[in-house]
Amino acid sequence: MAALTIQNARDGSTFTQGPQDTLLRAALRAGLGLAHECNAGGCGACKFELLEGDIETLWPDAPGLSARDRQRGRHLACQCRALTPLTIKAQTGAEYVPPTPPTRQTARLVATRDVTADIREFRFVASEHARFAPGQFAMLDLPGLGSSRAYSVSNTANGQGEWHFQIRRVANGRGTQVLFDELQPGDTVGLDGPYGTAWLRTESPRDIVCVAGGSGLAPMASIARGAAEAGLLAERKLTFFYGARLPSDVCGEDMLRALPGFGQQIRYIPVVSMPGDDGAWTGRTGFVHEAIAGALPSALADHEFYFAGPPPMTQALQELLMVTHGVPFEQIHFDRFF
Ligand SMILES: Cc1cc2nc3c(=O)[nH]c(=O)nc-3n(C[C@H](O)[C@H](O)[C@H](O)COP(=O)(O)OP(=O)(O)OC[C@H]3O[C@@H](n4cnc5c(N)ncnc54)[C@H](O)[C@@H]3O)c2cc1C
Repeated sequence: MAALTIQNARDGSTFTQGPQDTLLRAALRAGLGLAHECNAGGCGACKFELLEGDIETLWPDAPGLSARDRQRGRHLACQCRALTPLTIKAQTGAEYVPPTPPTRQTARLVATRDVTADIREFRFVASEHARFAPGQFAMLDLPGLGSSRAYSVSNTANGQGEWHFQIRRVANGRGTQVLFDELQPGDTVGLDGPYGTAWLRTESPRDIVCVAGGSGLAPMASIARGAAEAGLLAERKLTFFYGARLPSDVCGEDMLRALPGFGQQIRYIPVVSMPGDDGAWTGRTGFVHEAIAGALPSALADHEFYFAGPPPMTQALQELLMVTHGVPFEQIHFDRFF
């Protein structure tokens, strides 16, 4: 099928969509700032109205659309492809323009390493490049799956084409089953990226706070590594909170210890929600967001916040930061892992 032209009636912009792309990926590839967040059908941030033309819907039951959205004829740009030229009405904004437009490449699995009992690091080498901002994610096309999965990058951009991911095994998860049980070093996957808006803001003068919940470790490791590489930690402090359920799930400290300034400029604070009754865990307990205010030496609004993890954690953090502590939305950058 030839490339099809899509016009956004809201701002007059046009872009073309090739045969493999969704509307969202095509728009971002063209450098346009179509509103979006997860790229995986979960958040609903890329909703649009179809004014003219025909589309196909890749995942009709995607949870990002409510019954009311469906009744009103709304669609998700991350789950739709054009079948004819289209006119749509979609929200756009400068904050959604990708710093590096995403590209598709092939990536070969070169190594794996267990981080905890259920989080494993997967290292891929891509055919062309590893250009991304710290904190971004890529869409992986795994063999036999038919739909992509989003995974955050844990390393930083490099000239060797290396993309590292830290992935938690999900019970009965189709993608993680392929990754953990079937994929072997030397096997290849499709890699499309970078995506995501929660990247490290190097221009911010504020101290940095990273909060990772469970498999949210990867993008926060990337942010911390990126901040160190960019020389930001000469002037600023970075506090890294890790929220785990069990003491045995606690991880990430080794990656931070390898960075210059650990112990002075960089602090690591693990928080465990189910410490058990044996008294073996002597660190902080509770939900990770509850530990933040008491552990920071100055007002929360003086910090730049990055966080990633399950939607209930990101929701609790948003409320805490914006409602309770008045942190401006522009200082809050997060990914919800659907
Ligand atoms: C922005 C972002 C970043 C993420 N980063 C990480 C990370 O760094 N580490 C990590 O462990 N996890 C991460 N995740 C979660 C990850 O993408 C997967 O949801 C998780 O690994 C479970 O996948 P699964 O295939 O094993 O489970 P499944 O239950 O088989 O699939 C779950 C996910 O697959 C997608 N999906 C399912 N069915 C369809 C369909 N028919 N069409 C299209 N999509 C479908 C949906 O996104 C769904 O949430 C991230 C998620 C997002 C949105």
